[in-house]
Order: sequence, then C-alpha cells, then structure tokens
Amino acid sequence: MTRLTILEYPDPRLRTKATPVAEVDARLRTLIDDMLESMYVAKGVGLAATQVNVHKRLLVADVSEEKNTPLVFVNPEVLSREEIGTMQEGCLSVPGFYEDVNRAHRIRVKATGRDGKTFEMDAEGLLAVCVQHEIDHLDGKLFVDYLSELKRNRIRRKLEKDQRQRVTDSAPGRAPAF
Ligand code: ZN
Repeated sequence: MTRLTILEYPDPRLRTKATPVAEVDARLRTLIDDMLESMYVAKGVGLAATQVNVHKRLLVADVSEEKNTPLVFVNPEVLSREEIGTMQEGCLSVPGFYEDVNRAHRIRVKATGRDGKTFEMDAEGLLAVCVQHEIDHLDGKLFVDYLSELKRNRIRRKLEKDQRQRVTDSAPGRAPAF
C-alpha cells in the first residue's frame, strides 16, 4: 500500500468540489486501501479523497479505539440530522489546531461501500461528526470555515509560517483529527 500525501491548509486544492464516483472498480479499491493506510499512519479517524488530492466523492473513517473497524463511504449523502451539539475537532489538513464546531450528533447516511453495494446506516457521536466533516471536505469546505475570520486568519498565518516544522501526529488525549 502507498502512503498518500495529505494536503494542508491553505492549499487551494482543498477548495475543489469533488465529483461523484461512477463505479467502484479495482482502481478505486486501491485508492480506498491507500487512504485507509494513510489515515492510520497519520493517526486520524477519517480522511476524505480531497485531502489526498483526488477529487472524487469518497471518504474513509475508523473511530474505534482498536483501529480495527474501517468504514468506507463512496458518494455519501446525509439523509437526516438530529441533536446539534458542539465537539472539538481537528483536521489532518489543519495540523495542530483543535476548535469547537457545531454539528448534528446523530445522522442517517447513505453511501456505497467498498463492495460496490449501497447501504444506509445511523451514525452518532464521533462518527456522525466525522462523516459530516469529511463530506465538507468533498464540498471544498474546511472546519476552519466555521470559525471567526480572526481565528481562521491566525491559523492560516501560523501554518504558512510553520510549513515544515509542524507535528502531524495528534498527541494522546487530544481531540480527534480528521
Ligand atoms: Zn479534515
């Protein structure tokens, strides 16, 4: 498997809107496996194709403690949202920053799996937040867009200045990054 390079804010490619996947073929499954590998190596709980500069509607996630429950969502679509709440989020494309974001904590999502079959599932808590965060990526949106302009600019300047010295691993006990 190949470890893919994760784009980092404010890279303009992160603003690309992804297009639907036409077919789950061998090439897409290779991409899925590489994305999962890259997500685990980066210690993230989710990764969108946009973050690895592939502008197709695909995301992977694993919110389990043991990191043994990979989930794949091709052409994901949120069917319903409930229980808006606040959770601290991080992002592999905005390394080192963790901020409160409001999102639905209970959703129903429809997608196609790695096997090419369509499924629907209920997600709550961290997984619900993660799926919405990743779908935002597919729409060219980042969690910093929910912050004040002042805060966002501060993060951008810090990342631009610090491009080569940032730590991408989230330290134990920190909020999840996706
Ligand atoms: Zn992210």
